[in-house]
Amino acid sequence: MAVKTLDDLLGEGVKGRRVLVRADLNVPLDGEKITDDGRVRAALPTIRSLSEAGARVIVAAHLGRPKGTPDPAFSLRPVAARLGELLGTEVTLAGDVVGDKAKAAVESLGDGDVVLLENVRFDPRETSKDADERAELARELAALTGEHGAFVSDGFGVVHRKQASVYDVARVLPAYAGGLVLAELDVLRTLTGDPERPYAVVLGGSKVSDKLAVIEALLPKVDRLLVGGGMCFTFLAAQGHGVGSSLLETDMVDTCKRLLAEAGDKLVLPVDFVVADAFSADANTRTVPATGIEEGWMGLDVGPQTVAAFGAAVRDARTLFWNGPMGVFEMAPFAAGTRGVATAIAESEAFSVVGGGDSAAAVRLLGLPEDGFSHISTGGGASLEYLEGKDLPGVAVLSEER
Ligand code: ADP
Ligand code: MG
Repeated sequence: MAVKTLDDLLGEGVKGRRVLVRADLNVPLDGEKITDDGRVRAALPTIRSLSEAGARVIVAAHLGRPKGTPDPAFSLRPVAARLGELLGTEVTLAGDVVGDKAKAAVESLGDGDVVLLENVRFDPRETSKDADERAELARELAALTGEHGAFVSDGFGVVHRKQASVYDVARVLPAYAGGLVLAELDVLRTLTGDPERPYAVVLGGSKVSDKLAVIEALLPKVDRLLVGGGMCFTFLAAQGHGVGSSLLETDMVDTCKRLLAEAGDKLVLPVDFVVADAFSADANTRTVPATGIEEGWMGLDVGPQTVAAFGAAVRDARTLFWNGPMGVFEMAPFAAGTRGVATAIAESEAFSVVGGGDSAAAVRLLGLPEDGFSHISTGGGASLEYLEGKDLPGVAVLSEER
């Protein structure tokens, strides 16, 4: 069955109907302050178009990893406030997920109003492994919409999760793919289909083990795979170089040896690093060649020659995918590598995609031009799983026969 979309739902007419939207509003917080509202902004178009068409919008979302019980530290209150500011209308936060407070809040909605349910992970059934438990929560969420209800799946960052508000609810309500989910999938299809060449992928971040499956899946498809960040030290170790106290996954060394052999000269590693004598913004630092990391020093960023080499390798690409920072960009002395490589990506003429929560945050925190990239994905894990060739349950369920 073809996936029904938000446009189909709007075409049916939504005035006066209660529509449940699963959004991804999982933003980084510093206390009550949102440090990067990218996901809230990405969720706006779908919510706004439903509200403008007169729907009574019920938004379900999660924040962080509460332990299946209400916890003020994970309340969506700051998110409701920010969502309201950006929409230009008040967004009520329901005091619970599917309890009496949520029921009262949805009853009092007028046409075009928006209510945000409290963190759906306050209910342990959301992430339960037991399908019956999840189905029960899904039915309670669906019941909030009353007669003629509908579900719009727009939380791209969670579509790889088989969770009640993502997957199970789509089996009990008429379900539609939201604009963000459709846009993200469209970009990913371009990357896995027949991308314009040269096609270069830049990978970084902390762990090889996290990204191994995507390296394996992408290697045969790409022309160049540039590896920086914390994960490159396991590759350097596989080549027999000392890495000092840099991040190293010893159990991955053999796998990296095999990948290096398979990849040939497609796989490009850094040629120099900024090393530090401690994992700290005020550590002593030096710049050393990749083969010269001494004991007691750790590589926390790629060096200037690597930025030049990676920059040259991305500048003439026609398709680019970047996932994972080149260094510990959160600390100023180790941000230059990420800034430099990301700038080269932004300046290229390529169709360029940024995937990964920390990479997207780096673009904004380092003040890089967001419009230099063709697409900044809101879903790190979901994008990677798609690129690995895995099924995304929250997407697959939308095309199920019902
Ligand atoms: P993304 O969320 O974009 O997929 P990851 O979660 O894989 O990225 O990795 C991001 C983290 O990797 C950042 O917090 C960054 O500080 C860290 N990192 C990058 N380079 C290094 C390094 N050389 N040593 C330790 N950590 C690093
Ligand atoms: Mg991350």
